[in-house]
Amino acid sequence: MESESDSSPTAASLPLSAATLVPAETHPQQSPNRRGPPPPCHAFGVAIVCALPIEATAVTTLFEETWDDAALAKAPTDTNAYSVGAIGAHHVVLVHLPGMGKVASATGAGNLRSSFPRLSLVLLVGICGGAPKVSAKKADELLLGDVVVSTGVVQYDLGRRFPGRFVRKDTPHDNLSRLSLEASALLAKLQAEPGRGKLSSSVAVHLETIQQRLGAQVAYPGRTEDKLFKPGYLHKHREAAECPVCAEKMDAVCDQTFEKSCDELGCGQQESALESRLRPERVSRPVVHFGLVASGDTVMRSGSDRDAIAGRDGVIAFEMEGAGMWEILRSCSCLIVKSICDYADSHKNKKFQAYAAAVAAATAKALLESWDVCTLRVILARSVLEYADIWAKAYRIPCCLGVPTNFLSGRSRRL
Ligand SMILES: [Zn+2]
Ligand SMILES: [Zn+2]
Repeated sequence: MESESDSSPTAASLPLSAATLVPAETHPQQSPNRRGPPPPCHAFGVAIVCALPIEATAVTTLFEETWDDAALAKAPTDTNAYSVGAIGAHHVVLVHLPGMGKVASATGAGNLRSSFPRLSLVLLVGICGGAPKVSAKKADELLLGDVVVSTGVVQYDLGRRFPGRFVRKDTPHDNLSRLSLEASALLAKLQAEPGRGKLSSSVAVHLETIQQRLGAQVAYPGRTEDKLFKPGYLHKHREAAECPVCAEKMDAVCDQTFEKSCDELGCGQQESALESRLRPERVSRPVVHFGLVASGDTVMRSGSDRDAIAGRDGVIAFEMEGAGMWEILRSCSCLIVKSICDYADSHKNKKFQAYAAAVAAATAKALLESWDVCTLRVILARSVLEYADIWAKAYRIPCCLGVPTNFLSGRSRRL
């Protein structure tokens, strides 16, 4: 995630807070089937990592089966909290990170790897801040509720701070590793037709499923709530008599503004404060964008810094967990799948968070439908497990004497 989960200037205006996403009572029959203990950890090929409860709730809504996570045989040193279930042909483990940022995600990734040795795909799913390209083509314009799938991760806050400037470390040694061949092949398939169209349709279908189950709390907030302010137009008091700190300089902002909404401060009352958009109409379905994602421990709340980094590094979104888990999980394919809930500027609020979390979860499921390599591995793993089970039942021979013969499978007498 990229947005703070605490001090929201508009939390009071939301229908429900992020932590209170619950399944709608009107659809209890659509809950995933529950069955007994989960398969062994080595039978899981896919992991989904979420930093916020709102993100994890949206993902679990799309589980077609769930298992008892308390019976999961994870490594003794593994402190992660998991939910386990199935999405399509995949056994999926959902990681609930204890917090946001690189340390939490790196720790979670290390624990995940210790318990689940055969993961082939890890998806970091949730919400992020968008870096809108106002001069882009209409199809490339980022709107709130669109979703970004990473083609790479840039650790934008790793570098040297000199007086008045920051120089990012950009050598091959300092940069995060490239996508795996399998992930690159998947993205190549999804960026071309018919893969792109199929992905878009699947996202819409799964989003509708989530909205049916979670109700109005994950509804699209409305096109009029999607405002992109000009980078230099700050979230601050407008009247000099109201606040001497904000009135002192053009770029001065007082601490009280962090707790206030744009409506309370009167942001955007002049049309000139807003960027014109290429897609003014309401989107009928979220657009999936592919591009580089900036990852760091700082919540980006500055339009001018956002644009400077986007221009320098070519990133289209900002988030806080990708860099932490990237190198630790490089033995498998990692992708960031995050939906844009704000524009990473000083006006950011939580109005789009629930909807964006639902879009991200829907996109993750749509991606899994195309993860053929992983599907093949899961089928093979299941086959091996099934054969192993049959083999054990048929030919298990106790290695110690004193075992009653009725404990033996496939044998009528002790050898
Ligand atoms: Zn002020
Ligand atoms: Zn504002």
